[in-house]
Amino acid sequence: MNVQNLKAAVIGSSIGGLSAANVLNRLGFEVTVFEAFTEGFHNRGGALDSVDIQLLQTILPTETVQKRIGNHGHFYGDLWQYLYEGLPKYSVKFGVDIQEIRNPESLKPIVEIEGKLLEFDLIIGADGGKSTIRKYVSDAVPQYAGYTLWRTLLSTDKIGHPPNGSKTINGIRYETLGFPFIGANQESLWNCGVYMAMPE
Ligand SMILES: Cc1cc2nc3c(=O)[nH]c(=O)nc-3n(C[C@H](O)[C@H](O)[C@H](O)COP(=O)(O)OP(=O)(O)OC[C@H]3O[C@@H](n4cnc5c(N)ncnc54)[C@H](O)[C@@H]3O)c2cc1C
Repeated sequence: MNVQNLKAAVIGSSIGGLSAANVLNRLGFEVTVFEAFTEGFHNRGGALDSVDIQLLQTILPTETVQKRIGNHGHFYGDLWQYLYEGLPKYSVKFGVDIQEIRNPESLKPIVEIEGKLLEFDLIIGADGGKSTIRKYVSDAVPQYAGYTLWRTLLSTDKIGHPPNGSKTINGIRYETLGFPFIGANQESLWNCGVYMAMPE
């Protein structure tokens, strides 16, 4: 299929959106990414696991990988920046919140941006767990998993061991877990989660 003149829109410029945009761009699509936030995420902290560290070391100097990530995955901001730089300049339009797709079942779906109607050959919804775009492609509604989750970062100076454990209080089970990682300012931190199992 010749995709050279086909236009693709990706809604959401986080990891999923920029990954899709890079693939489409390499296939030859003309890609535009629309992101509701007004700026990029190169400074966002947090470690993403399930990353091929060897592949990463072919992209970033080994020393940088060790400093920022250790053996625990990928610093979100670095991955975001790498994916962002993989796209042609100005492909990502920040501060654009897409709430509606017009003619979603046609071959030329439309999004309206600042009063202009823009036609695309393909629209990808990469707008996260609370997607507004999902309803244009599926009737499926995500089911609540029964857990509430908080995330936080703690200094390793304050807690000398991984903050892992569980306890049941008043019939509600709380679980914590955490792994070490290096923050944006090179601080040594625990990336922690507290999970609260909600009663049915
Ligand atoms: C508190 C918390 C901690 C986490 N910690 C980790 C961790 O340590 N390690 C890990 O691997 N994963 C972690 N995750 C999960 C990880 O963040 C997600 O799996 C990942 O971000 C999903 O990427 P995504 O691109 O699918 O969606 P998202 O990252 O949710 O991105 C969706 C993007 O779409 C944009 N958007 C939404 N609506 C619109 C719209 N209408 N118009 C335009 N743009 C829109 C949003 O602004 C956002 O940039 C965590 C998640 C949370 C909530």
